Amino acid sequence: MVADKAADSTKETSSKMDVLSSTRTVVKNALDKLGYPDEVFELLKEPIRMMTVRIPVRMDDGSIKIFTGYRAQHNDAVGPTKGGIRFHPDVTETEVKALSIWMSLKAGIVDLPYGGGKGGIVCDPREMSFRELEGVSRGYVRAISQIVGPTKDIPAPDVFTNSQIMAWMMDEYSRIDEFNNPGFITGKPIVLGGSHGRESATAKGVTICIEEAAKKKGIDVKGARIVVQGFGNAGSFLAKFLHDAGAIVVGISDAYGALHDPEGLDIDYLLDRRDSFGTVTKLFNKTISNQELLELDCDILVPAAVENQITEENAHRIKASIVVEAANGPTTMEATKILSERGILLVPDVLASAGGVTVSYFEWVQNNQGYYWEAEEIEEKLEKIMVKAFNSIYTTAQTRRIDMRLAAYMIGVRKMAEASRFRGWV
Ligand code: GLU
Repeated sequence: MVADKAADSTKETSSKMDVLSSTRTVVKNALDKLGYPDEVFELLKEPIRMMTVRIPVRMDDGSIKIFTGYRAQHNDAVGPTKGGIRFHPDVTETEVKALSIWMSLKAGIVDLPYGGGKGGIVCDPREMSFRELEGVSRGYVRAISQIVGPTKDIPAPDVFTNSQIMAWMMDEYSRIDEFNNPGFITGKPIVLGGSHGRESATAKGVTICIEEAAKKKGIDVKGARIVVQGFGNAGSFLAKFLHDAGAIVVGISDAYGALHDPEGLDIDYLLDRRDSFGTVTKLFNKTISNQELLELDCDILVPAAVENQITEENAHRIKASIVVEAANGPTTMEATKILSERGILLVPDVLASAGGVTVSYFEWVQNNQGYYWEAEEIEEKLEKIMVKAFNSIYTTAQTRRIDMRLAAYMIGVRKMAEASRFRGWV
C-alpha cells in the first residue's frame, strides 16, 4: 500500500515535470518561428521570481499544521503579473511554474497589460473547515505580501478557490497595507469590488471559442452533442451555457466518476445537486469512468478538469471533431500531434480559458478607477476580445500550416518578448 502510494506520487511528479518541459518546448518553437535569439528563450523558460512559503495554521483540533505555498511570477516586462491561486493536495513547484508561463501566454493572446503569475497551496479544501481555510488564506497573503500588490502581482481564483477565499485575502492584504485595496486581487464578491460576469467568465470565453470553432467545422452548436469533463467553476457554467444554447450535453464528470446519457443529461438538475467542489456523480448508481467519458461518441469534447487527460494512449480513440481545452494543460504534446494528424480541431487552453483573466482585468480596471460597469458592457467587451483572439490564432495556424497550440503560443509570447527586448533585458 505504502509502495503504491510512493509510485503514484512519483508518477504525479513526473507528469508535472512533463507539463513544464512540454510548455518550454512549445515556447521555444514559437520563439524560433518568430526569429528571436536563444537568450529570449533562456529568460522566458523560468519565472523571474519564485517564492516558497511555509504557513502555520491552528487547526480546529488545536494542533498546528504547517502548509506549503508557492507564488511564481513569470515575466513582468509588459506589466504586473497576474494569475490564480489553487488549493490542491497535489500542487507542486514545477506545476506552478508551468501555470505561470501559461498565464503570460493568455495575457498576450487577449492583449492584456500583464505578465503571468500563479500561486498554489498544498492542501485539501474538501477536508478543511471554513475557519481552517480562512487561516490558510490569510497566512498565505501575509507570507507573500511583499511581492504582491495591485501594481506588482494580482492573484485570482483557480482550482478549489472561490470568491470567499478572495475576500479573506483582500481583507488581509488591506490590513497589512492599512487601507482598502480591492485591486490587489480579482474574483472577489461583487459587494467587495468584484465584477459582474467574473464567476462565469472562463465558461463564457470557452463558449465563445466553441461557437467560433463550430462555425469553422460547419457544426451547429444547437443540437451538437457535447461532453464536458469536470463540473467545477468552468465545467458547470459551461454545461449550463451550452445546454441553454440548445446543445445536447451527453456526458459530464467530477473527480469521482462520470455520467452519460446519449439523449442529453438534465443539466439544471445536476447543477442544483452539485456541491461547492463540483461533486455530483456520487448521487448516481450508474456511472462510467473519466477515461470512458473522454472517448464517448460526441461532436465536441471539453476537458475542463485537470492536466494530462488526453495522452498518446487515448488520443487515437477520441471521437469528437472539436476539442476545446477549458482546463489548463489537459492534452499532452504527443496527443496534440495525434489529434492534429487526425484532423481534429484542438482549441488550446491558453486561448480557450483566457476569458477568466480577461474579466479579471476588467475587475482590476474598475477597482482602479472606482467606477463600475454593467453586466452587458462586460459581456460585449469579452465577446469582442475572444472572437478576435480566436480568429487571429485560427488564421495564423491556417496560413502557417501549424496547429492552433503553436499559433497561440506565437501570438501569446510575442508582446512579452518584444517588451523584454525594449527594456534591454535580452
Ligand atoms: N485562474 C484563472 C486562469 O487560470 C484566472 C486567472 C485570473 O483571473 O487572473 O486563467
